[in-house]
Amino acid sequence: QREHSFWPEIYVVKPGEVCEPELVIEDSVTVSTISKTDETNARHKSKDYVACLTFRDITHRYIHQKRMDYLANHDPLTEAFTRARLEEELVAYIGDSTSNRQPLTLVLLDLDRFKNINETLGHAAGDGVLKEVAKRMNDFGLYSVARLGADRFAGAYPQIMDEAQADEFAEKIIASITQPYALDGHRALLGVSVGLTDTRNSGFLPNNLISHADMALSEAKNMPGNSHFLFKAELNERIQDRQRVEMELLDAISKDELHIHYQPQVDMATGLCLGAEALLRWQHPEMGAVRPDRFISVAEDSGMIIEIGRWVLEKACIDAMTWPKPGKLAVNVSAVQFEYGDVVAAIKKALEISKLPVERLDIEITESVFVTKQDKFIQTLNEIVEMGVGVALDDFGTGYSSLSYLSRLPVDKVKIDQSFVRNLPDDEQSMAIVQSVLTLSAAMDKRVVAEGIETEAQAWVLRLAGCGIGQGYLFGRPQTNESFCEFLRRDEPSEFLLKATG
Ligand code: C2E
Ligand code: MG
Ligand code: MG
Repeated sequence: QREHSFWPEIYVVKPGEVCEPELVIEDSVTVSTISKTDETNARHKSKDYVACLTFRDITHRYIHQKRMDYLANHDPLTEAFTRARLEEELVAYIGDSTSNRQPLTLVLLDLDRFKNINETLGHAAGDGVLKEVAKRMNDFGLYSVARLGADRFAGAYPQIMDEAQADEFAEKIIASITQPYALDGHRALLGVSVGLTDTRNSGFLPNNLISHADMALSEAKNMPGNSHFLFKAELNERIQDRQRVEMELLDAISKDELHIHYQPQVDMATGLCLGAEALLRWQHPEMGAVRPDRFISVAEDSGMIIEIGRWVLEKACIDAMTWPKPGKLAVNVSAVQFEYGDVVAAIKKALEISKLPVERLDIEITESVFVTKQDKFIQTLNEIVEMGVGVALDDFGTGYSSLSYLSRLPVDKVKIDQSFVRNLPDDEQSMAIVQSVLTLSAAMDKRVVAEGIETEAQAWVLRLAGCGIGQGYLFGRPQTNESFCEFLRRDEPSEFLLKATG
């Protein structure tokens, strides 16, 4: 007997098939009391009860509700959990007793080249691969496998490991996910990056676990090949620093905190100054002088480099017009400006505002410009070259390009990275690399700039090897525009370079 049952009970016919039952009945019971007076004894009142039973067929509503619940918790394609459900699963696993929480490792995977499969073999093939990935994760022994994005998955492992064990564990996951996928008639190969953290490193809050594993994953994605990364506290500090830098950088231009320094580039035959490279400086009231290494990549990731880059171009061109001699100005332009900003328009505007003759401007790009959308960027570069602006390939030797591919690029200068110059003249390998860059560049009619020259010995061997232009502390540090103007006024042939020719 259910007294005063206001809440409906649900009867599901065919239990087990929760999503598609045949019939779902909801019933409710309302009990009312009826008082009646005993006719023989007017003082005695008795009570009778009346129950009202209501049955309703709610099959339709129930099925919809269950479907909604399912969708809120599962990815319909792979049947893996959603992020919200993963968090619940983690909470349930860890438990809420503060003294006896269960440790775990959280693993995040991001597939590489998944888009290729979708594009070349079709979406059905892509779907098949994703299902298989989720299955392999389950088979591997990961719990609560969840899909967090198009090609991003997470899973929990009920154990924490030391670093060596975690490495081995991650390698095994990578080996499993990178096994070929058989798709009717085709074999598809995937790459994968893995980020891991555990409750010892990240604590027991699901949100922190997921976001730390995500930071580790970003780290792994920046490493070549199928890589993994185990979260460490320093990573969090670095990321917080980046967030602070990003916040502060937002107003750096308007607060007049950005400045440009100019570093001389000299003719290696005479030591005379040919011009300067513009290098961005940020003087923050609390953080002090922030190095470009710390803020350029943040500005790139957030897209702020587009506005900052425009500002640098304009300001540097204006400054170059104040130089006592008409030297060349080299301005660094980021790959992000190529991809998302209108570089050609930015250059034109800077030249127009400053009235700097076009032949005095070089832009410096890095090889990363060519990593994606090569054809599009080569076309943009051609437009820049046609305007009469020079293009130098910066940090050469550190990136992806091979020397042979240099001939296809509309680049008229190559800058040998300072990591090779640093080890000169004693290191044979650096010497050999420098030598080949010089030989090939000469054959392709490109000029070579050596960066980071600090000693006379380095300058000598570079010059003897045939390097035409030098830049480095030996000739001059990056300095304010006023001091660079002074430098140009004092400029005269360098004694020791002249001696080098004998
Ligand atoms: P980069 O374009 O390769 O610039 C050369 C870097 O080498 C500069 O570092 C310069 O100060 C440093 N350097 C020059 N001579 C020597 C030397 O003899 N010894 C040593 N150890 N270092 C030397 P900086 O100014 O810290 O700039 C770092 C990087 O930041 C630049 O490398 C460039 O990639 C980027 N950057 C600087 N300004 C801009 C900018 O306006 N836009 C963009 N997109 N990137 C910039
Ligand atoms: Mg540069
Ligand atoms: Mg460089």
